[in-house]
Amino acid sequence: MRDEFLAATKRSLAMRVGYLCSNPSCRCSTVGPAHGEVGTVLLGKAAHITAAAAGGPRYDPSLSMEARRSPSNGIWLCSMCADLIDRDTMRFPIELLNKWKCDAVGDALRSLASPAAATRQGPMRIQLDDADKAWLQALALPPDNDIESTTDRMRKAAVDDITAFQDVREWPPHVVTPNLRLLGTETSSITLDGLARGIGTSEGVCLVSPPGTGKTTTLVQLAESILRFGEAVAVLV
Ligand SMILES: [Zn+2]
Repeated sequence: MRDEFLAATKRSLAMRVGYLCSNPSCRCSTVGPAHGEVGTVLLGKAAHITAAAAGGPRYDPSLSMEARRSPSNGIWLCSMCADLIDRDTMRFPIELLNKWKCDAVGDALRSLASPAAATRQGPMRIQLDDADKAWLQALALPPDNDIESTTDRMRKAAVDDITAFQDVREWPPHVVTPNLRLLGTETSSITLDGLARGIGTSEGVCLVSPPGTGKTTTLVQLAESILRFGEAVAVLV
């Protein structure tokens, strides 16, 4: 039996690298328009880093079924590269594929978080595919609990929370926009808005600065940016 990825996992793997092949010597686009007004053509594949079934390339018997079909065991590649890594496993070991994936996600984050991207892109929006719609329908939720209404309610609650936070006495009267830098990258500086757009792509972002220099303030500002730009709901814990 093959431990296949869920449709949502495949889409997430693709989106997190901007639908580009993760092989650094390929990096081709894997999505485009089909003939007509609405159709799309998808040429990429969510490939297994360790095989989906016993006897397959880089198979790891120690993994559970859940681990084998989890996003951490997948990498987005064009069809050609997906075939290539499975036919020459000596050349494409697990460690190399994980590095490709990590670098490709980093590239996608940097291109989203750059100031240039802020002027070029509209709000991020997640498109539901047929598998998502079928799954949602199976839940048989009342009509006012559809994704749009629920997201709207959560966004309103988040905006209220941020306003309450900013109304406390300790909130600085003059808040400035910080200068942020992505450590370990060429990117010299990124904006809060850029970070807000890219946050869904990253494996996680750590905010590092000395005590008392405004990390909490920055997080609240970031939450504001996330709410302004996307469908995502910011939660400050
Ligand atoms: Zn490729």
